[in-house]
Amino acid sequence: MSWLDEVKYVRKQAKLNNKFFADSLPMIASENVLSPLCREMLISDFHGRYAEGTPGKRYYEGCEIFDRVEEKAIELAKKLFKCNFADVRSTAGTTANLAVLKALIKPGETACVLDLANGAHISFGKWGAAGVRGINLISYPFNDEEMNIDVDGAVKLIKKVKPKLALNGRSVFLFPSPIKEIAEAAHDVGAYLIYDGAHVLGLIAGKQFQDPLIEGADLMSGSTHKTLPGPQGGVILSNHKGETDEDKSFLRKIGFGVFPGVSSSYHLHHVAAKAIAFAEHLEFGEEYAIQTIKNAQALAQNLFERGFEVFGEKLGFTKSHQILLSIGPKKGKEASKKLADSGIITNMNTIPGDEDPLNPSGLRIGTPELTRIGMKEKEMQDIADFYMRALLKNENSTKIKADIKEFRKDFQELHYCFKKEFRGYDYHKLV
Ligand SMILES: *Cc1c(COP(=O)(O)O)cnc(C)c1O
Repeated sequence: MSWLDEVKYVRKQAKLNNKFFADSLPMIASENVLSPLCREMLISDFHGRYAEGTPGKRYYEGCEIFDRVEEKAIELAKKLFKCNFADVRSTAGTTANLAVLKALIKPGETACVLDLANGAHISFGKWGAAGVRGINLISYPFNDEEMNIDVDGAVKLIKKVKPKLALNGRSVFLFPSPIKEIAEAAHDVGAYLIYDGAHVLGLIAGKQFQDPLIEGADLMSGSTHKTLPGPQGGVILSNHKGETDEDKSFLRKIGFGVFPGVSSSYHLHHVAAKAIAFAEHLEFGEEYAIQTIKNAQALAQNLFERGFEVFGEKLGFTKSHQILLSIGPKKGKEASKKLADSGIITNMNTIPGDEDPLNPSGLRIGTPELTRIGMKEKEMQDIADFYMRALLKNENSTKIKADIKEFRKDFQELHYCFKKEFRGYDYHKLV
């Protein structure tokens, strides 16, 4: 073996992976596929460069062209989310959250959060960014039936413990959060409300989910690669205008949290790809968000009719891109493995009452990627059948996998992005 062989080996795995996903049903709720034009930015020269600071105020020379790109990304983010402030530099949703925590709360101070078992993300848990910052975490009460924060309980809790921050971060996000009420209570005790929209940014921008900045959230953080189908990365948005000294200082602290707080180089090629993703979402986002949610609702209904236990039945199962299934005590892992063997990629997930995240009782399913490759309500019926065959009828997984590969043949093109205007980019070919 030469080192060249090792190079070939890794390249081959990447090609295999392209093929693997092109033949499967990718249904992980946090995943998506990147448009060809975003992809082009990732192999541009921006990748090799450093720009610390903000446009026009750099520590390195050679940033003038990138400055225009970052300024454009900020301008497009503000248009897309109809807000007054955007920081597009975070390299992930987690670092965006860490930057916010660095800016607004000190070790030992208190924040209110959702429990992990109830769908919170690890970055607001004690093993994640909140733990790294040494924050004292107190959980909101939760209403299992409505799969939502118990709003009266949350308001009481905030009034009682007077936290520095009221955090709302959700990776299981079926229904909008009661932001108005929580924001009011938080502001009454001098706390900021932070809405982590990692999962739902694309739905919010597509005007199909609550707009937390209008409902009273001080900041919205999030990932730029989930329902917002951009490059992996993070963003921080706010409606604060920075008109008073206090407000100026608030926004300056946020920027300072990102750099130098939690990043040095902030992946300029990703910032360029974010700008393109924002513009593509301004063009196609509304249509995409509508279909993504329609697909999730259709799939939930079809799974329910075939005998699956789907959360949120009384409320129409979901108002987002996600579905949560209860699959039997500690059976999540086994079920997700069975589906994967059959060509359906999902993830096991905790459901209310679960204590061990490695042995959960649920499955989380998402429709963002299937929607992007052109699937609609009709295909959701076929997909529910595949789930039934794999999990309820225990059919042979090799047979299901072959059928799914055949089914996917008609869905090999990316939608909701600029394509025909530019030639030469192939969605599945790696190089
Ligand atoms: C995915 C997710 C994150 C983390 O985002 P990364 O970009 O993967 O670091 C943060 N918060 C929530 C609620 C998420 O679902």
